[in-house]
Amino acid sequence: LFITLEGGDGSGKSTQAALLEQWLDGKHRTVVRTREPGGTDFGTEVREIVLHSRGHISPRAEALLYAADRAHHISTKVRPALERGDVVIQDRYLDSSVAYQGAGRVLDSAEIRSLSLWAAEGLLPDLTILLDLDEHEARARLDGSRTRFDRLENEKSEFHARVRAAFLALARSEPERFLVLDAAQSPESLAARIRAAVEPLLED
Ligand code: C5P
Repeated sequence: LFITLEGGDGSGKSTQAALLEQWLDGKHRTVVRTREPGGTDFGTEVREIVLHSRGHISPRAEALLYAADRAHHISTKVRPALERGDVVIQDRYLDSSVAYQGAGRVLDSAEIRSLSLWAAEGLLPDLTILLDLDEHEARARLDGSRTRFDRLENEKSEFHARVRAAFLALARSEPERFLVLDAAQSPESLAARIRAAVEPLLED
């Protein structure tokens, strides 16, 4: 079972990934919790490069770096885990690339999607949870814990509006894969909604 969490910075993806992992642990499921960029040693190096080169890396070079991270991550960590029957909970995947490198950095969304699918040899999640949050709310939440390198720190409101709209359009185009949640709710109520969506996907 392959579950991804998507949404803007500060939408609560990491918190929900951790809560979902705890719940699945309680059900004695083996969970691999991972993220992109940075889910492998190689990916950690790529993450450093993309985050530190913000502002002076060309959009296509950035898209290729995310794709390189993804190709290695999916083939060496995610696919083997899925083949063992583990549950994979992943913070960001190809929808982030369509939203950030496509809509955000104004590359062709269909091309970014096919680049991602090529990198991942076609692997799509069983369930994608989109935590939808207004940029201003996200800024208020991340105040104090923001890093110099995140998008909220470095990009204008128009960028975030394009990214948010792109995530919502992706969810509309694949309603059977996506669960869209209003991330302004409390972490507990979000976690309950997520558990209710995951429960039927767990085979005994
Ligand atoms: O979510 P995480 O903290 O791992 O993301 C690090 C930064 O990289 C964030 O500012 C996020 O918006 C950005 N990012 C991106 N394109 C992606 C994935 C993440 O611009 N495909």
